[in-house]
Amino acid sequence: MRPGAKGEVTVLVVAGLDPTAGAGLAADLEALGAVGARGWPVAAALTAQGPRGVRGWSPVPVEMLLAQVDALLDGAPRRPGAIKTGMLGTAPLAHALAKRLSARDLARVPLVVDPVLLSSSGALLLDTAVASPLEALGPLLERARLVTPNLEELAALTGCVTGEDEAAIEAARRLGARAVLVKGGHRDGAPIDLLVEGRRVTRFTGRRRPGTARGTGCRLAAALAGLLARGATLAEAAGGAKQVVERYLDAERRRR
Ligand code: PLP
Repeated sequence: MRPGAKGEVTVLVVAGLDPTAGAGLAADLEALGAVGARGWPVAAALTAQGPRGVRGWSPVPVEMLLAQVDALLDGAPRRPGAIKTGMLGTAPLAHALAKRLSARDLARVPLVVDPVLLSSSGALLLDTAVASPLEALGPLLERARLVTPNLEELAALTGCVTGEDEAAIEAARRLGARAVLVKGGHRDGAPIDLLVEGRRVTRFTGRRRPGTARGTGCRLAAALAGLLARGATLAEAAGGAKQVVERYLDAERRRR
């Protein structure tokens, strides 16, 4: 099928390749499939990882990132219905991507930014040697329809303490994005997500599952982008994507 053929809901995903498929592009495609959308995976970085964690990673050259996007769109019958970004690796890649996604052909396509900074095994997935996380991701956050940090990412981006709801909401407002979904998976107690749109805050409550799984953040943001591409509102997409992640966690537990 040609990319963007009639009737297809497509989402451009720009992220890292994790060969375990636990997180990154492969996980994004799975989550998009779960909401009836097709992903167009564009690699910003390759990672070497397995059951024992991340052994290394390498960003693609900036020109290659842009070439992937341009080749995909050139001749495609329609634009993607949404865009999702995950691991971007370096500030130059994040800046070049923000500029490309603001160009006329893509500027109106809703963008979901998952600000990936670390792997769950602790490896740094955004090089902060020359730019802070906020300097690296700032232009993308401004372009985004929604940013989906967990509490640690929100703290790293804003320099604020984010433990209590009110502090997290205040920090979310400082990101300079139109809307922020603060993920509660890492907090104590029930995993409550907070959707902060200016003064409005919507809470999404869930039931905590025992244990941990990788790639839940990737999957949430990808499913959310897929639902936005299908015409859902932000709140509908956030609720629907949370269910996709819960079903994934339950299925993973049964597999173990
Ligand atoms: N994206 C990629 C390509 C990754 O390799 C990882 C983690 O290794 C992540 C995102 C973050 O996923 P998680 O926090 O579940 O480890």
